[in-house]
Amino acid sequence: MSALGRHILVEYYNCKADLLNDVVHIEKSMEQAATEAGATLINSTFHHFSPYGVSGVVVIQESHLAIHTWPEYGFAAVDLFTCGDTVDPWVSYQFLEKAFEASHGSAMEMRRGHMDLLNKQEITANLKRDNIHEQTLAEIKRSRDIWFTERDENIALSLKHTGERLFQEQSPYQKVEVFDTHAYGRLLTLDGMIMCTEKDEYVYHEMITHIPMFTHPNPKRALIIGGGDGGTARELLRHESLEEVVMVEIDEKVVDASKKFLPTISSALNHAKLTLKIEDGIKYVNECQDDAFDIVIVDSTDPVGPSEGLFTKDFYTHVHRILKDEGVMITQSESPRFNTKVFQEIFSCYKEIFGQNQVHCYLAYIPTYPTGMWSFSYSVKGQINPLKFDSGRVQEFVKTNNLQYYNASIHQAAFALPNFVAHLLEEDLVGV
Ligand code: SAM
Repeated sequence: MSALGRHILVEYYNCKADLLNDVVHIEKSMEQAATEAGATLINSTFHHFSPYGVSGVVVIQESHLAIHTWPEYGFAAVDLFTCGDTVDPWVSYQFLEKAFEASHGSAMEMRRGHMDLLNKQEITANLKRDNIHEQTLAEIKRSRDIWFTERDENIALSLKHTGERLFQEQSPYQKVEVFDTHAYGRLLTLDGMIMCTEKDEYVYHEMITHIPMFTHPNPKRALIIGGGDGGTARELLRHESLEEVVMVEIDEKVVDASKKFLPTISSALNHAKLTLKIEDGIKYVNECQDDAFDIVIVDSTDPVGPSEGLFTKDFYTHVHRILKDEGVMITQSESPRFNTKVFQEIFSCYKEIFGQNQVHCYLAYIPTYPTGMWSFSYSVKGQINPLKFDSGRVQEFVKTNNLQYYNASIHQAAFALPNFVAHLLEEDLVGV
């Protein structure tokens, strides 16, 4: 029976999970499956959803190929839809079965638009369509639309990238990747979570460092836990008064990726005053002597994987112990709106360790982090006031170093909390 189009509904089983979670591999395979079958590419759009799954479609001159994957089940559902006689969708079927390393596939072919049920009408649009078919291939401008997406059940943030992956390694701790985004420059991700982008990293790194540095009376030794991209070290080392910065990063691959592909962020990782240790920050802090540091910055990932132990009372108790008498601890303390429970729990934990009035919260605006509003904690062992600093000295430093976010007014303003954030911090967490 002759028809306008052939539609093959495909199921691929027991595919390799990693391949089904790899948006770059999937986009390339789908496009190649189309060209192998004799189709002409028009454009494509692909999204990766963290932590799992890819959806995408390749539009071809002869219709489209579409996919959705469930890496956790090793399963991919694919639609292969072609019109005309020049493209054989079964070639695409065979190609993708191999590309996803499926143990087997099943497929059902449907004919779409049965000719004996259709009445062809004479409309001018048909003429236009014929003209389009006569266009040379060179005239068809192909476009790619490929997206990295970080999401939970309710919120997603997507960044469009070139479709090329600059770096990908599975370390013993996490999957480290670097992409090239159109709006934010290069992007570092760990296990599919955004760590930093070239174009907005300065907010996080300037705010996590200069606030403690300008409020501590005489900081000489600083410790960074995590911070493998190097941004925190770069900002600390702008302060000539510091004698040593120790950075303890668990994952060498993050440092390698940053050194190679994020040179503006990692620029101070070979600085003479930096001691870089590749080891677990928890172990380092446990074994560190008392009164060793003026400032400790916990520049960690979210509390999953290797950083889970960095969000415990035991860890912060050791940080308190290794701080000198006037020491300051700064941590990235997540998004009050997005990670509300963790945000509340960690502040309540710091207050138990440092004292009720010794812990402060400040905020910064980071477009590529969930909700855009990010919080930092400022905990002091002695009597330091986080709002007391020499604004003349700050402004001089801002100018000399051409800082992009931090300045004396921002320092003041960052501690002004929206009511909902202040309420979250006032809530009694006993029994939560
Ligand atoms: N700005 C970032 C954010 O919040 O999205 C944090 C970036 S930084 C890359 C976080 C680093 O913490 C990662 O490189 C990760 O390997 C490191 N890390 C996680 N757990 C750690 C641990 N137990 N000890 C030392 N470093 C750790």
